[in-house]
Amino acid sequence: TQAAAGAPDATATHCPYCSLQCGMQLVASGPRGRSLEVQPWPEFPVNEGGLCRKGWTSTGLRGHRERLTTPLVRDRATGELRAAEWDEALDLVADRLRALQAAHGADAVGVFGGGGLTNEKAYLLGKLARVALGTSQIDYNGRWCMSSAASAGNQAFGIDRGLPFPLADVEQADVVVLVGSNLAETMPPAARHLDRVRERGGQVVCIDPRRTPTAERSDVVLQPVPGTDLALALGVLHLLDARVAVDEEYVAARTSGWEDVRATAAGWWPERVERTTGIGTAELHALVDLLAGAERAMVLTARGAEQHSQGTATVLAWIDVALALGMPGKPGAGYGCLTGQGNGQGGREHGQKSDQLPGYRMIDDPAAREHVAAVWGVDPATLPGKGRSAYELLDALGQPDGPRSLLVFGSNIVVSAPRATHVSERLAALDLLVVCDMVMSETAALADVVLPVTQWAEETGTMTNLEGRVILRRQAASAPAGVRSDLQVIAGLAERLGSTATFPTDPEEVFAELARASAGGKADYAGIDYARITAEHGVFWPCPDHEHPGTQRMFADRFAHADGRARFVDVDHVGTAEPTDADFPVHLTTGRVLAQYQSGAQTRRVKDLPDTGPFVELHPMLAGRVGARDGEPVCVRTRRGTMTAPARVVGTIRPDTVFVPFHWVGANRLTNDALDPSSRMPEFKVCAAAVSA
Ligand code: SF4
Repeated sequence: TQAAAGAPDATATHCPYCSLQCGMQLVASGPRGRSLEVQPWPEFPVNEGGLCRKGWTSTGLRGHRERLTTPLVRDRATGELRAAEWDEALDLVADRLRALQAAHGADAVGVFGGGGLTNEKAYLLGKLARVALGTSQIDYNGRWCMSSAASAGNQAFGIDRGLPFPLADVEQADVVVLVGSNLAETMPPAARHLDRVRERGGQVVCIDPRRTPTAERSDVVLQPVPGTDLALALGVLHLLDARVAVDEEYVAARTSGWEDVRATAAGWWPERVERTTGIGTAELHALVDLLAGAERAMVLTARGAEQHSQGTATVLAWIDVALALGMPGKPGAGYGCLTGQGNGQGGREHGQKSDQLPGYRMIDDPAAREHVAAVWGVDPATLPGKGRSAYELLDALGQPDGPRSLLVFGSNIVVSAPRATHVSERLAALDLLVVCDMVMSETAALADVVLPVTQWAEETGTMTNLEGRVILRRQAASAPAGVRSDLQVIAGLAERLGSTATFPTDPEEVFAELARASAGGKADYAGIDYARITAEHGVFWPCPDHEHPGTQRMFADRFAHADGRARFVDVDHVGTAEPTDADFPVHLTTGRVLAQYQSGAQTRRVKDLPDTGPFVELHPMLAGRVGARDGEPVCVRTRRGTMTAPARVVGTIRPDTVFVPFHWVGANRLTNDALDPSSRMPEFKVCAAAVSA
């Protein structure tokens, strides 16, 4: 273990949850030192010792009575899960996968990864799929996290790194515009940067249909109709152009494509924007006043802007705003995406996406295939091509041309997938469902084989946080007997499948291979190793060699497109895939609460975190109309399902909108599986609903 400065018996590591990857120290405590206590790690710059409630209580799952410590296999006679030896479970999985592939082809096996897996796990999982299984059918739940921002970043800048600058740069901005981010609740230690902007006399703008805790720490709060952030951005562009506030010099020197965007924005005059978004012309003018007068303006998007069938276009429109203001590449300014999942960034860089190989290489690029195949010691011709995106993969399960089996690592899709009832039906149609997890999640409960794996404090591995900073989680305690790491599970399966490629189980060895595989790619880790990460409090990619300092800030001189220019991308507002109508007259939006993380499989089991269960947040006017009372059951119905939960009647949400948190079974039975055509992001953030008491 690695001791942190000033705490000789402590292990310096990082929180198991969100993309901030706050530094913390774990100290042995309790009888015989078997428990772990969380202590601050003030030297780690991202959070400077601050943690949210989830971080402080993160050791609460260690030793939990629901912790899985033995493989489980579903008994064909009784239909119940029974304990099994590791060899029996892995032999059974490998035998059945081989039989299914022999009968139905290599793509009969699907692999579903997660944005919480370490870089090493994500990398080895991609290799398992492409080399040991030879299947193209691999994707991961990060597709539902920030894929729209990734797609937009690639189009506009030629590269996708959530924040192209350190998070602390936010403090230097004069105006920060948050589009669909509730960071004060989802990553509280980051909110101090907003406070410091305001202390310096800057302004924070919060755009969200709900008046959230982040809005309470903002100067300007705009609550648009869900699904209209794109139209709002076009209205901003319209007024910037009308006022001759576009940075023409920057646009001419560093970008291309402005004229097409200008022509589209010309059609979005303030009254039309107001009719579409509900944001009044005076509010729009005030927002443009702020932006036009700012020396350094920064636009940050999160899931509220991105989880839409027009998510990529929405992000592109806000990038267009940042480019029109001449901000990307300027210190303390520009555009960034606030990633959600712990390894939402790194999880998509190392080959668990259906269209990518390690280093952000595209799987249909012959040079990329050759490079990665050489690292893996295989013939590039044997690597499969592009597979289905996450939701499309689940939708195809058990269908005549779809996978007959699924291996799930680090994901609880029964709770987190859109149109979740349909997804559960697809899982039930499989010949084999294998789930690796540390507890009996709702998805594991449906599996034919459940494999118990280590949790974060029991293993070592790297994560890449929302800034593109590669950090190292260090093992602080041994795992319970009977539990294996995901790397051991992957290696065990690869061996049984007869793969001759190497599948190391030592994380540092995997990282060294990952770094070689990424060399020369956009996300280049070739100069990063565990010793550097430790010495430097993380290393920012790209870092092509050991003498390279890492890249904290991007785009100062050039963007990543071949000509060095950023692209304005011409996009227009189309609207949500499912508009409201007489039968479903309100908008449903989903999101998070402070005490829970993602599907809640971990945090719902931590006794020091309040488990409120789901609720339905609605405005007093809507509550009055449907006869709902605070605390009493209210029913939300969409074209895909129904849920009932206690009402929370609040004046902080739009009267035409209801909100349901997605950490429990229910919310995603309602959500829409309409996909963004570019990122394949489902439209989690808005659909049409009916509410009744
Ligand atoms: Fe963990 Fe995120 Fe909370 Fe930090 S903000 S303690 S990384 S959940």
